[in-house]
Amino acid sequence: MFEKNQILEVLIEDITDTGEGIGHVNGITLFVKNAIPGDRCRVRVLKAKKTYAFAKVEEMLTLAPGRVTPACEVASMCGGCQLSYMSYEEQLRLKEKKVRDCITRIGGFTDAEILPIIGMDEPTAYRNKGQFPVGEGRDGRPVLGFYAGRSHRIIPTEGCGMLWKGHEEILSVVRRFLETSGVKPYCEETGKGLLRHVLIRKGFATGEIIVCLIINGDKLPNAGMLWEALCRVPGVVGLCLNVNKEQTNVILGDRLIPLYGKAYIKDYIGDICFEISPMSFYQVNPVQTKVLYDTALSFAGLTGTETVWDLYCGIGTISLFLAKAAGKVYGVEIVPEAIADAKKNASLNGITNAEFFVGAAEEVFPRLVKERPDIGADVIVVDPPRKGCDSVLLETMLRMNPRRIVYVSCDPATLARDLRLLCEKDYRLEKVQPVDQFPGSVHVETVVLMSRDKE
Ligand code: SAH
Repeated sequence: MFEKNQILEVLIEDITDTGEGIGHVNGITLFVKNAIPGDRCRVRVLKAKKTYAFAKVEEMLTLAPGRVTPACEVASMCGGCQLSYMSYEEQLRLKEKKVRDCITRIGGFTDAEILPIIGMDEPTAYRNKGQFPVGEGRDGRPVLGFYAGRSHRIIPTEGCGMLWKGHEEILSVVRRFLETSGVKPYCEETGKGLLRHVLIRKGFATGEIIVCLIINGDKLPNAGMLWEALCRVPGVVGLCLNVNKEQTNVILGDRLIPLYGKAYIKDYIGDICFEISPMSFYQVNPVQTKVLYDTALSFAGLTGTETVWDLYCGIGTISLFLAKAAGKVYGVEIVPEAIADAKKNASLNGITNAEFFVGAAEEVFPRLVKERPDIGADVIVVDPPRKGCDSVLLETMLRMNPRRIVYVSCDPATLARDLRLLCEKDYRLEKVQPVDQFPGSVHVETVVLMSRDKE
């Protein structure tokens, strides 16, 4: 076992799911922040256990071939972009390898067709949504920024390199409002103060921006003053409040209070229009979302007559994207507000062949297909959260015997686990397409096509 403050020399060989470099010294695994595979560095042990230790870089001895200077000045402190020290090519290589490793090791597929990852031409300023915590600095002045990795210390920032260019103006308006309005930042330790987070979201296709302040109360004093200043920022269409009085890490509360202008923004994916409330789940990278959905659409192989299920449908984005090419689409989603949005968005686009249901997919889907055996399923699309699909759902999917299954996943490990079960008997793994939705971060999205063997 090492001791705290011990100095070691280590070659970084791999990287964890949360972006720390991994190396080995005397059989003990070292986790080193801000170090990437190929770096050789002198490190100081921060915390030591029997088989592993956390350490920080004291000195870089040899730099990894793919190492770059991060584009963002707070990269070493901010927890958002874990891969900011890697060139974009290296990031893509790493993500593709992660998908391949999971499919092979966890899924047990030795000869799967894994297509080259689709990255972005311009992998910065891609995000349409940002959430900034607000607090008080040591000098008592309000700070607005980002949480440092694995902590709730706020790193003050002017803005974020991954968010659309121009959002900095909104943050500085809010900062000025905090300094002049008497509104106090929320304090996590005491639970006192009002302003907790600032959420901003932009529709890239329309330019519409909404600002939502998450507050520990029901009212925002001098809100008119803030709105007046926000109105001078091009694109801003609305100001809302979200009420969160709980002492919790969860950012949003349940209640939305529209204050000025609109309570939603409009955006397009392809030619489908969406109205999005600040509280709805909506993909954060519009350019790659189109790529992701186009891939799902092409994998679905629709001819205009099929019955399609979109399980874990959110606000119905995939459902509506597929509806034009399908006979009928059924969407299932657990959040009632999201389903309300899905229905509204269907009618907004004049789409009449999509129907939506609220509830857990693993409960609603088996129940519906039992109650309405006439419906059937030609294609099933799933897009679950990181934990993947429930086993009851997977069994129901198999029982429905669709011609194709399209699995959209944000976690290759649970994806591989589920694929193993789905492809045990009748289904064949056809194609695996990784898509980079989150340049700079360790996350990777994957679209998979499975089809029935007998065809
Ligand atoms: N397909 C959508 C949303 C994907 S995110 C899109 O591309 O925008 C995953 C969604 O699954 C979230 O909207 C989440 O609320 C929902 N969800 C989580 N658990 C669920 C469950 N057990 N049953 C149905 N939906 C669930």
